[in-house]
Amino acid sequence: MRSMFAAKTQQEQSNVVTPPAHNQHAPSPEPDREWVHWAIGRIEADFNRSADTHLLPVPVPALPDIGLYLKDESSHPTGSLKHRLARSLFLYALSNGWLQAGRPVIEASSGSTAVSEAYFARMLGLPFIAVVPVNTAPEKLHAIEALGGTTHPVEAGRTLYAVAEDLARSLGGHYMDQFTYAERATDWRGNNNIAEAIYAQMAREPHPVPTWVVCGAGTGGTSATIGRFARYHRHITQICVADPEASVFHRHWHDRSIDGYEGPSSLIEGIGRPRVEPSFIPGVVDRMIVVSDAQSIAAARAVSRRLGKLCGGSTGTNVWACAVIASELARAGQAGSMVSILCDSGERYRSSYFDDAWIAQKGLDLAPYEAAIERFFDTGSIG
Ligand SMILES: *Cc1c(COP(=O)(O)O)cnc(C)c1O
Repeated sequence: MRSMFAAKTQQEQSNVVTPPAHNQHAPSPEPDREWVHWAIGRIEADFNRSADTHLLPVPVPALPDIGLYLKDESSHPTGSLKHRLARSLFLYALSNGWLQAGRPVIEASSGSTAVSEAYFARMLGLPFIAVVPVNTAPEKLHAIEALGGTTHPVEAGRTLYAVAEDLARSLGGHYMDQFTYAERATDWRGNNNIAEAIYAQMAREPHPVPTWVVCGAGTGGTSATIGRFARYHRHITQICVADPEASVFHRHWHDRSIDGYEGPSSLIEGIGRPRVEPSFIPGVVDRMIVVSDAQSIAAARAVSRRLGKLCGGSTGTNVWACAVIASELARAGQAGSMVSILCDSGERYRSSYFDDAWIAQKGLDLAPYEAAIERFFDTGSIG
């Protein structure tokens, strides 16, 4: 507390100039080095107060030779795997001299990234603005605002990215740009990234080196970090991305000339994109499994029942893909372990994925998929 107070006083004394709003051509002065030290120190202190997230075993008694685990990223202070991303993006931006005292941080996100970035912006006393589509659910806007952020709604038709970039320029702030920087803001060789944590937590398991790691792709940052880590450390682990039907990523993985998909978008929040994001690195992905929205939601419901805690939709996508791979391994008589991600809590989706009226209104029939995933948990084969 004492050093934090001292640092704050230094910051106040340093008399940082706040640029006039709407002056697009104001020269950017060098960031105040003392402020940058203070800011990085605050993030490090927050990290020091935090615990690692649990690696939860998912029991599948019918498959005694195959271990299935979920890294529970819902237990971060801001409730999702985007907590790690936001921390990395802030440290990267601070280390690059892109953030300055009093200047706003802008992001194009209506989802968990904006919530996590609002948390870190408030920690550093920086204004935070999330550029969101006009139709964003009020609950999400409230989550961003509850952490001190403001929201900037954009009419359909204009791209969020362009609006966020323009806004940052006119306010003399910084556009964080998660979709560009996710893959490089995290130190993929180690340094407490999600991959290093998974391998350390697996150390005393029957099959400590995962045969497969399964994750989704939104920015692509998680698959890039885990895929690079596994290769760099020469592990046998293969990486599978579980991708919604309406996503371009699996199309692009099969044919690199495809860089966009213009169908109706997926109902699964956080994953599957209509354009190939710069942070999606297809070369580190060994396999793509396409999962329908109904399969994802059925699996989210089933795994929530098995774990006794509600899991979000993208966790269901991951679990469905795990069930496909585990069934194949079992059929081939192979032993091993599979690790996937519990990306966020299902509490966020009580009025969507866990609401039967919402499911019916979307025209989904979950019954055959719930039966299939329950069959997997009971017999070890998804059929
Ligand atoms: C962002 C996100 C993902 C995907 O992670 P990336 O590292 O961005 O690819 C999965 N699930 C949820 C809920 C997310 O918010």
